[in-house]
Amino acid sequence: MKLTRKLIDLNIKWKLTLWSSCLMILLFFSYNLFQYFFIQNWLIAQEKQTIQTRMDEVLAYLKDTNHAQNGLDIQRANDFLDKINQESQMIRLLNQKGEEVFSTSDDFPEDEIKPKLVNRSELDEVKINEDRILVLRAPFNEGTVEIGRSLEKSDELMKYFFFVMIAGGIGATGLSLLGGRLISHQLLKSVNKIVDTMKRIKKKGLKERVQIGAHKDEITELGMMFNDLMDDLERSFLQQKQFVEDASHELKTPLTIIHGHLSLINRWGKEDPKVLERSIGLSLKEVDRLIQLVAELLELSRADANHQEDLIHFDVIKPNVVIDRVLENVKLINNDFEININREANEHSLIKIPSRYLEQILLIAFDNAVKFAKDKKVIDVRTVNTGNLFTIEIKDYGIGIPKEDLPFVLNRFYRVDKARSRKSGGSGLGLSIAKRLVENYGGNLLLTSSEGKWTQISIQLPLVT
Ligand code: ATP
Ligand code: MG
Repeated sequence: MKLTRKLIDLNIKWKLTLWSSCLMILLFFSYNLFQYFFIQNWLIAQEKQTIQTRMDEVLAYLKDTNHAQNGLDIQRANDFLDKINQESQMIRLLNQKGEEVFSTSDDFPEDEIKPKLVNRSELDEVKINEDRILVLRAPFNEGTVEIGRSLEKSDELMKYFFFVMIAGGIGATGLSLLGGRLISHQLLKSVNKIVDTMKRIKKKGLKERVQIGAHKDEITELGMMFNDLMDDLERSFLQQKQFVEDASHELKTPLTIIHGHLSLINRWGKEDPKVLERSIGLSLKEVDRLIQLVAELLELSRADANHQEDLIHFDVIKPNVVIDRVLENVKLINNDFEININREANEHSLIKIPSRYLEQILLIAFDNAVKFAKDKKVIDVRTVNTGNLFTIEIKDYGIGIPKEDLPFVLNRFYRVDKARSRKSGGSGLGLSIAKRLVENYGGNLLLTSSEGKWTQISIQLPLVT
């Protein structure tokens, strides 16, 4: 019970080794056993053949020399038989009474074989002192010829062979154990690679992958499948992360506006009912937007993260209405700024984007313009129709962006001066979110700047015709 439990719990490397070794041992022993019995039978058949041939020779000689008148010349026969006899063999002639007429033997326990008369040829196998002996008897002249042959030599050979077999078996077992271990090691190398990768992933994170070799087999396929799975997992993990970041950024914009209005009320609103009323009205609108936003975020997070794009809505809106609304908020909150607007675009222009997204894009641009302004607190806004695009340009005269940083500021989390941006609370997400939103609705976001002088952001969205 305990042993079987232990065998089941063995790792695959040992299981494979044991199985392959057991199989090899079984194969080796069954083959050797077969060989052993085959050789043994063959040897005995050979001995029987030899004893029969001897008998034929003896009988032929005896018949030849046995003359009817003078009987057998015992002396001559004895000489002849002495000559043809071999080691471990006996030739004996019995008369009709069963008495020995003559006998010859060489290294053979002759006395142990009892004389016996027979009427027809008879082959016996007797055992004397652990040695097997074949005795062939054949009738002759009312007497019997007996030939005994010891199987000691062939038995010894078989014993020797048996030891060689056992030694070979033990050697083969060792070799097959080694071979099995080698094969399983080779086979499991790829599996171990996957296991190692999993361990590394657990320790270091989702970036690790299984190294795939040049040759292709089932286990490399497993590795490739695993890598694909990890790619998917990493992608969805990053998507989730991005979703949370974007959602937080989206929530931040209305909160910033509400914060602006509350500060305004705190400073002047208490005495000026006009400011108070306007700021409270605008703040309430932002709170409504926040409520709507949270509801939408919940809806989004419930939907499969991979199908966020399906939720893109194509509302047709008048950009000028949204621009006015945003400008009103921005002007009120940043009343130390001079904000000019130059409307060159057709005032009836229509574009396809939900108004809250355009509002978010504009707020991201104004937030930067205010945040990175120096002493010249001026922001110029211009709308223009270029071809089939509606373009909104927002230009500030602040610190600008160095040429070498310009290609990267649209990337997520990229900030020109890390220390400074942290102080002003930036996370480096605004522009990347604005760019993705604009591009989702078929537009472009362009950024141009001259370091230390100005920065201009152009929001281009396709016109609805
Ligand atoms: P967030 O918008 O997420 O609060 P942020 O403003 O730092 O943080 P982005 O709006 O993506 O992030 O801007 C990225 C970087 O580009 C900024 O950190 C800043 O260095 C530079 N940048 C963006 N707009 C301007 C601008 N108008 N003037 C100067 N630098 C700018
Ligand atoms: Mg920003």
